Amino acid sequence: MERLDKILANTGRWSRKEARELVRAGRVTVDGAVVRAPEGKFDPAAHFQVDGQIISGERLVYIMLHKPAGLVSATEDPHQPTVLTLLPEYLRRVGLFPAGRLDKDTEGLLLLTNDGPLAHRLLSPRRHVDKTYFVRVEGILDGADAAAFAAGMTLGDGLVCMPAGLERLEHPDEAIVTLREGKYHQIKRMLAARGKPVVYLKRLTMGSLSLDPGLEPGMWRYLTPEELKELA
Ligand code: URA
Repeated sequence: MERLDKILANTGRWSRKEARELVRAGRVTVDGAVVRAPEGKFDPAAHFQVDGQIISGERLVYIMLHKPAGLVSATEDPHQPTVLTLLPEYLRRVGLFPAGRLDKDTEGLLLLTNDGPLAHRLLSPRRHVDKTYFVRVEGILDGADAAAFAAGMTLGDGLVCMPAGLERLEHPDEAIVTLREGKYHQIKRMLAARGKPVVYLKRLTMGSLSLDPGLEPGMWRYLTPEELKELA
């Protein structure tokens, strides 16, 4: 159950303050009845109308999840638990899917949404939305690895990679990798090709969106209106 003003603000159409004003003005109905208390709690899957316009059903939801290792970033899987199992039941019924997959053993920022056009824009290599990852490898990263990433690698299996960033960190086996695309196992394949297999991988950012340091693995929250505005 969630506050009515929050449910309305989560559609991205109104700020929390605007949503409160709409409710207080008697312009919002929940399951057909006018509700005037913005703090009233409802199931977000209920039927909401503002000025007689239906906003449930076409309700767009944007969730930041700190994906833990061990879950697959799919909506359904016959054999393995998916990231959707981390969400409450009412949010599993609104058509959410992960915008950009992470491997089962990869952690970090995952955006879950039912906004298909936004997901498409974020993931299109032509839009050049950078994604950054913290990576730890077996071995020592050097300038030649960074140069190979910057030049754009072509892997033994034929995968042609766009130029990518590899910024070495204080520990010689750690780096921040920046990609503009997201081919299957891409970072693992690029670093394996350099003879330095990945032992730990965590996504930190997608475009303007950064993983909230307050979210422990397995935790989630809604995007703020500001985050959504910057992303869209
Ligand atoms: N690259 C990978 O190899 N795995 C991920 O999950 C993301 C990027």
